[in-house]
Amino acid sequence: MLRCARLPQPGETVHGEDFRTAPGGKGANQAVAAARLGGRVEFIGCVGDDAFGTEARTALEREGVGTTHLRTRADVPTGVAMILVEQSGQNSIALAAGANACLDLAQVDDAAAAIAGASLLVCQLESPLDAVRHAIGIARRHGVLVLLNPAPAQTLPPALLAEVDILVPNESEAALLVGADAPREPTALALALKAQGPDTVIVTLGEDGICLADPDGVRLRAAPAAKAVDTTGAGDTFIGAFAVALQEGQGTDSAAAFAQRAAALSVARHGAMASMPTRDECESAR
Ligand code: ATP
Repeated sequence: MLRCARLPQPGETVHGEDFRTAPGGKGANQAVAAARLGGRVEFIGCVGDDAFGTEARTALEREGVGTTHLRTRADVPTGVAMILVEQSGQNSIALAAGANACLDLAQVDDAAAAIAGASLLVCQLESPLDAVRHAIGIARRHGVLVLLNPAPAQTLPPALLAEVDILVPNESEAALLVGADAPREPTALALALKAQGPDTVIVTLGEDGICLADPDGVRLRAAPAAKAVDTTGAGDTFIGAFAVALQEGQGTDSAAAFAQRAAALSVARHGAMASMPTRDECESAR
């Protein structure tokens, strides 16, 4: 991660400062967000046999995330992301999948008992799509609720969306999934996605909050006020917190409000995992 006054335009060089490395990735961030808030989490993924891989495993274990299904691959480097953060708190990110791309169906099968025994499966698309689909298939066969964060943005087979209970995209991911004639209005966007199968769709709208569509209808929920210094990981914090609240039996509105409080706390601090709040911080922010 490198901090700069503003993000560079294509072909431009800007000066930055405060370079640092930290473990991350959507799946690991979401797992840590959930574990730090008291969720029981098992992580399924791959790292390389390198310093970044060791750091990632250590970070997950320090937070109490189960790593039985985190595999170390000797033949590929750990996935990395180059993150630039500008003064306003906005970021821009380039990814190299590395070991993330090695998560295969056999590894998912090895984790089948963990998936079947869970109350919720959370997936994101830094893992290969066929592995994600396979995990979702196992979850559905065992009546496990499926939450998909369709990030990084990509188009998806319509059949996959029909197998998802809860879809949580940001605005650009939602627009890509809806397609060329996607409405700009968040409520229309959320309803268009809900029509493709998920019971619940939450489109996250950055500082504008969320748009939630479920069987009770569609509504906008403003974000709690926050002095944003770094929005990296806000979406992951939202998802981890939302998953924990669901796991505890909270309804969708209450779980979303909890997740919004957690995400608002995270944007007021630097970093991704480093900025994620504890349960006490979240409860005091009520
Ligand atoms: P990222 O990729 O940076 O992790 P994202 O694009 O996946 O984020 P966002 O929609 O930017 O997700 O943010 C997720 C949630 O975090 C929002 O719905 C909101 O609840 C909260 N959030 C983001 N930015 C702010 C902010 N400036 N103030 C308060 N809450 C915020």
